[in-house]
Amino acid sequence: MGDTSGTGVAFTRNPATGEKGLMGEFLINAQGEDVVAGVRTPMPIQKMAEVMPEVYEQFKKICDILENHYRDMQDMEFTIEDKHLYMLQTRNGKRTAAAAIKIACDLIDEGMITEQQALMQIDAKSLDMLLHPTFDSESLKNADKNNVVGKGIAASPGAAAGKIVFTAEDAVKLGKQNEKVVLVRLETSPEDIEGMKYAQGILTVRGGQTSHAAVVARGMGTCCVSGCGDIKMDEENKCFTLANKVFHEGNVLSLDGSTGKIYDCLIKTVPADPNSGYFGRIMKLADKYKALGVRTNADTPHDAERAAELGAQGIGLCRTEHMFFEPDRIGAFREMICADTLEERIVALNKIEPMQQKDFEGLMEALKGMPVTIRFLDPPLHEFVPTSEEDIKELAKVQNKTVAQIKQIINGLHEFNPMMGHRGCRLTVTYPEIAEMQTRAIIKAAINVQKRHPDWKVEPEIMIPLVGEVKELAFVKKIVVKTADEIIAKSNSKLKYEVGTMIEIPRAALTADEIAKEAEFFCFGTNDLTQMTFGFSRDDAGKFLPAYYANKIYESDPFARLDTVGVGKLMEMSIKLGRSTRPNLHAGICGEHGGDPSSIEFCHNIGLDYVSCSPLRVPIAPLAAAQANIKNPRK
Ligand code: PEP
Ligand code: MG
Repeated sequence: MGDTSGTGVAFTRNPATGEKGLMGEFLINAQGEDVVAGVRTPMPIQKMAEVMPEVYEQFKKICDILENHYRDMQDMEFTIEDKHLYMLQTRNGKRTAAAAIKIACDLIDEGMITEQQALMQIDAKSLDMLLHPTFDSESLKNADKNNVVGKGIAASPGAAAGKIVFTAEDAVKLGKQNEKVVLVRLETSPEDIEGMKYAQGILTVRGGQTSHAAVVARGMGTCCVSGCGDIKMDEENKCFTLANKVFHEGNVLSLDGSTGKIYDCLIKTVPADPNSGYFGRIMKLADKYKALGVRTNADTPHDAERAAELGAQGIGLCRTEHMFFEPDRIGAFREMICADTLEERIVALNKIEPMQQKDFEGLMEALKGMPVTIRFLDPPLHEFVPTSEEDIKELAKVQNKTVAQIKQIINGLHEFNPMMGHRGCRLTVTYPEIAEMQTRAIIKAAINVQKRHPDWKVEPEIMIPLVGEVKELAFVKKIVVKTADEIIAKSNSKLKYEVGTMIEIPRAALTADEIAKEAEFFCFGTNDLTQMTFGFSRDDAGKFLPAYYANKIYESDPFARLDTVGVGKLMEMSIKLGRSTRPNLHAGICGEHGGDPSSIEFCHNIGLDYVSCSPLRVPIAPLAAAQANIKNPRK
């Protein structure tokens, strides 16, 4: 209806950064769809003060009323018809993780909400986005003066640096080769999603805060600068002009998703620091209100250090077979698996032992006296036996065998169901020398670390995988205790250690009272427990599960979100049974579910002591644990 009408979208606080104050966009002489589709670049909401001052004043007042009423940041849609303001909708606004933590802290400080309410307001899952990189301040200082070539809308925070690509396909191609890329598009559409996933950052010529690129990038936690209208795009020739400079495919660019600045150079990026600022404050609050402990699944000293920095209170699972994925180590591991005789196996184990001991020392050093649970080898053989001709030749050479002999051994190792095959504690039952070697490596590492740090409490937790029968556990435990006690006695050490088990086979859960007579702790391996309870292969279920969602048989992937009805029932029962024969039994979870908020809530409710998750999900767990304890306080 002309220039006295218009439409817009606004937030009471900035949904990208959390900054207090109106943020939004509006268009004169337009309909709502024009704003969201990103076909016209809208004006910032503050411009309304110049164009329609009375309407703007009225709008600001309404915003305050709404925010005070809902005690949260509001996302509103409005329309103006001939200077008459109509509010169309208001709701609690979606926000980035960075905005969520700032808004939560600000609302506490403004006396609007309590600490508990603030914690409940943050989506725990989103926190891992805060672990995305920012620019290194030194590197940024140098770049700031000379290299800013343009500015767009700061659509999704984070920092990105990489080579320019113009199509989603190129982003995928280079991304798969581990190249860092920045995807530059006129605007994005749903066909670009795959490419957006591989890009470090996204730059678009058109579109505002609510355009496809901005919304999707925010959802992915990927840095995005949108609506840089100064770019003269030539998609056909894969180049664009900005600040009188022509940029071709493969040239470099850096983007700051929090300021909207575009740089014509590579700026070093650094991972975020979760211990400072609003993030640090929220993590402290989460610690104050949670009852569950949070540990990490880490297999290398590097991962362990990172997890400890992020707040992990111990290692809940070290998958020792994962210490052998490196090309310079896999050989020794294959020698062990493909050994024909005890002698051959011992030669291989002797190569492996010092590597393991060194790594265990690294893990214990990184955790500075916090608990470290080390699990005995549990390699499904198909993940480790050599398959390429080259690797087979290499193994034949080391073992002084012919290629044909090695192939015969490999054929002999073939299993129809490797996940239910010769893995976990079954390996120790057939080859006790493997458990002896691992015990020596753990105990010697612990004694050394304790000597170096007398004030730390070094007390390794040795975890036996895939137990289904108490006698099986007793068999392995006897080997561990004999080997460990001999070393401890010889070294005049007072080292203490625990032997516990994973509960990941339904039979173990069903007989948990018996198992707990031997096990000093339980840790739920819900990946296998889900696999075995559902009878779904964890490697293949992805193929048929979508049909289950489509037919509403299951709502979500039981490997990602714990099936509390079935698998959860087994867990709850195990804990009760286990504590009936060993009242001080401590218990945790180390399957993938340990980093999933709804699963964490269930673990809290059934009385687990800790959850253990991968390092980058460590910040999610304390918040989810605090939320669970606020909802259902532990006595
Ligand atoms: C599990 O089964 O849940 C587990 C943690 O062990 P893995 O994934 O190594 O089998
Ligand atoms: Mg397992």
